[in-house]
Amino acid sequence: MNVNENKQIGIIAKVSGPLVVAKNMKDVQMYDVVRVSEKRLIGEVIELRGDVASIQVYEETAGIGPGEPVYFTNEPLSVELAPGLIEGIFDGIQRPLDVIYEESGDRIPLGIDLPKLDHERLWDFKKRVEVGMEVYEGDILGVVQETAVVEHRVLVPPTLSGTITAIHEGKARIIDVIAKIKTANGEEVEITMLQRWPVRRPRPYQKKLAPREPMVTGQRVIDTLFPIAIGGIAAIPGPFGSGKTVVQHQLAKWADADIIVYVGCGERGNEMTDVLNEFPNLKDPKTGMSLMQRTVLIANTSNMPVAAREASIYTGITIAEYYRDMGYRVAIMADSTSRWAEALREMSGRLEEMPGEEGYPAYLSSRLAEFYERAGLVETLGKEARVGAISAIGAVSPPGGDTSEPVSQATLRIVKVFWGLSAALAYRRHFPAIDWLRSYSLYEDDLTEFFNKNINQDWSTQVQEAKDILQEESKLEEIVRLVGVDSLEFADRLTMECARSIREDFLHQIAFDVIDTYTSLNKQYGILKAILTWYHLGQEALKENASFNKIINMTVRERIGRMKYIKEADFNNEFAEIMKEINSEFQSLMKGDDLYA
Ligand code: ADP
Ligand code: MG
Repeated sequence: MNVNENKQIGIIAKVSGPLVVAKNMKDVQMYDVVRVSEKRLIGEVIELRGDVASIQVYEETAGIGPGEPVYFTNEPLSVELAPGLIEGIFDGIQRPLDVIYEESGDRIPLGIDLPKLDHERLWDFKKRVEVGMEVYEGDILGVVQETAVVEHRVLVPPTLSGTITAIHEGKARIIDVIAKIKTANGEEVEITMLQRWPVRRPRPYQKKLAPREPMVTGQRVIDTLFPIAIGGIAAIPGPFGSGKTVVQHQLAKWADADIIVYVGCGERGNEMTDVLNEFPNLKDPKTGMSLMQRTVLIANTSNMPVAAREASIYTGITIAEYYRDMGYRVAIMADSTSRWAEALREMSGRLEEMPGEEGYPAYLSSRLAEFYERAGLVETLGKEARVGAISAIGAVSPPGGDTSEPVSQATLRIVKVFWGLSAALAYRRHFPAIDWLRSYSLYEDDLTEFFNKNINQDWSTQVQEAKDILQEESKLEEIVRLVGVDSLEFADRLTMECARSIREDFLHQIAFDVIDTYTSLNKQYGILKAILTWYHLGQEALKENASFNKIINMTVRERIGRMKYIKEADFNNEFAEIMKEINSEFQSLMKGDDLYA
């Protein structure tokens, strides 16, 4: 919108960092976008009292002061939704960072008025409806090949239905009319591929569905011990350097998702360049092409104004909803929500609101919930409803790694999966440093049927046993600390050996190893099966007075330790061999007794 057309003007009364207070604002509404001063800085109304508005400004406010004008747009903070989102790199209010970098370099010019998406680019629109057809909100009007791997489905916007009176085929810009729909009251509505949506309002769907399938990530500690459902929500709290970003990147690469929305809420000053350089260089293992071909990147770094961070997770989730509505499985990652919460705290402080715990506003929890609640598995709008999903994974970086702080606590009350990263594990170079004693997944029961039916009927029994052994280990460690390992029975020492094997041969997973980086569910099951089979036979053998040392020094154990490096294609054969070898080693240990065939 051209701001010059706006006749209404507010007057700045006070400037406090990213917060601007203006008078004469009675004609604006909450969450309206305004342009502040002659520099036309982008701001959003976040509080209204009579004709006084508090404006959150998304750009540097240095040099502006009382008396300067505020221009109205009378529109809420919105995103542009259309082909061109994928491969885009945007800031928190969807300004195209890649375009700005090309034109202006490192510093974003103030008040810049660039379209969020490329309005001139031509797309090849293929119609899916004909003139005369009845269409409803959410129906597919046509498709555009957005990237080599993403088909963009252009939908009838929410609340609209009627009869198609015109439909385009072939090249078009996103601002061109591609369809006309005559509604029941006789009005003809022109539809472009470009749709706008206010970021703070969830996009509608038909109904929410219960999660039923895991979002397979190929990360063993996640899929086997603490799985996330498709449409699920998870948090990764952890101190600096514990591996939050690596986990998020692994999920972006490997998770069973069609579209990735990655919101980088700057951790360090230079991470912006990291994001801009690093992410586009990530290769999509599924296609061999750049991961950007199915990714939308939203980047805010610590050197950008704090307020833009606050908007970024809403911008991200709105874009995620848009692809969900097309029937895709979207995964959104926010790294890190703590930086987002700090932005909230700073604005709240400047608004002089009553501070809650550690200075965070009382509405911290409800804002976080509003974000995570927009995830889920849904039946979309449309005559032939599609199933779409948003899985949301938020990193949390509590100061000092102490999760008793407000952001971690508020997050934990909302999410259903908790992958707690441990500084101690990271220090020992045990990666992913997900603490198996503190982490949990509330989807386990929902997903048991899937795992038992599709992978193996004793999947859940086996997982429970592995967890029990790890729990047992921590108790035994306590005893060992007090009275030494020699005081333990061999059965308990074998349990500790088994736990070590689960940790080192199964849970430990190197993200940067070509094979280890991803493990199928079948292979995850097989590795754990081998470890536990050795353990069961070992316990049996101990009862027959077999030598503890011989059991733990069996040559097959080394082979078990290397199972994670077996190529997926060779796994079933090698697995069968290893199982045979376990059995035969125990047989010869028991001097040929045929007890364990
Ligand atoms: P955070 O985001 O929590 O500050 P990072 O994700 O940047 O931490 O991880 C810090 C470092 O830990 C990485 O640079 C890497 O060397 C190591 N690391 C983390 N996870 C893994 C992993 N799965 N495999 C191998 N190395 C890892
Ligand atoms: Mg990080």
